[in-house]
Amino acid sequence: MIEVSDLVKVYPGGTKAVSGINFAVREGEFFGFLGPNGAGKSTTLKILSTLLKKTSGTVKVAGYDVDHDGMRVRQSIGFAMQEVGLDDLATGKDFLVLQGLLYKLSEHESKKRANELLEMMELTYAANRKVGTYSGGMRRRIDLLGALIHRPKLLFLDEPTTGLDPQSRLAIWDYLKRINKDGVTIVLTTQIMEEADRLCERLAIIDVGTIVAEGSPDMLKAQVGGDVVSITIGTAAAHATDEMKAKAKGILTARPGVISATEQNGAMLVTVKDGGSAAPDLMRSLIEGGIHVSNIAVSEPTLDDVFLKLTGKKIRSDSTGGDAMDSAMRAFMGLKKR
Ligand code: ADP
Ligand code: MG
Repeated sequence: MIEVSDLVKVYPGGTKAVSGINFAVREGEFFGFLGPNGAGKSTTLKILSTLLKKTSGTVKVAGYDVDHDGMRVRQSIGFAMQEVGLDDLATGKDFLVLQGLLYKLSEHESKKRANELLEMMELTYAANRKVGTYSGGMRRRIDLLGALIHRPKLLFLDEPTTGLDPQSRLAIWDYLKRINKDGVTIVLTTQIMEEADRLCERLAIIDVGTIVAEGSPDMLKAQVGGDVVSITIGTAAAHATDEMKAKAKGILTARPGVISATEQNGAMLVTVKDGGSAAPDLMRSLIEGGIHVSNIAVSEPTLDDVFLKLTGKKIRSDSTGGDAMDSAMRAFMGLKKR
């Protein structure tokens, strides 16, 4: 369904947003790009959906070349962008019918399809309300439906649930799983590791314009090579100093079975074959080394741990994501989100 080779995008001004990526997506697959803000996710999706011109490389979508057959590509895909652009004065249903007309459905067909989609997403109750009165979650959902009006076989979603409350997020996840089962190929981008883990059959982990790993979520997590023991050192009153952290790292790396030890926000993250049996030994050696341990927890690796191992960074440092920051900035500057 998608074939991309050596894709490069350099923006005017010189930012290299995508530095030569290769990937392919099969028909019916649920594929994801997982990466932090600025990784190049939106840029990649915009090129695939013909909204943006690439600098070099080849991109085929639904069998068509994006440069030569842009119109055909656009007819084959649906695209819900990261920035939702809805007309606040139109009703949800009017918006969908208009989308249908833009895709050259007849008025009758558009209305029928709009009703069907609203029903499937459980938004029928709000169909005749103005979009301006919708919550953030409802706006995202109606925008998503707009991308599906012409029954595309391929759907692009750019961070479909960033900034949404957990309930709206779950509703969207369920819906996406359903339409993927019905045969729609889905490519989404996200910086939410649970989203990638729960939805995607295959993932590309992307950082500063480069794919650093690719595989199923289970395969990627297995790459971490063991469990993760998270050890908080120091106390609330006396935070661990850099010296203490370095010492702890030295002690931990020397223990048998330890694959790696890194420090993140005052916690030592230790990758070890069997976390449960290693934890007491790790704790004892720290205490014997004169380091105070205030908390210890063992967990199976997450995609965050995969990202950390590959790049030395966390995917994101908070739970609300860049979008919340963006809207806070916009509110501060007196700008309205479109
Ligand atoms: P993501 O969607 O993963 O957060 P983007 O694709 O939006 O990342 O951005 C990738 C890089 O390209 C970033 O460094 C960003 O600042 C830059 N960038 C994005 N859009 C533009 C633009 N229109 N002009 C110049 N630079 C851009
Ligand atoms: Mg983006």
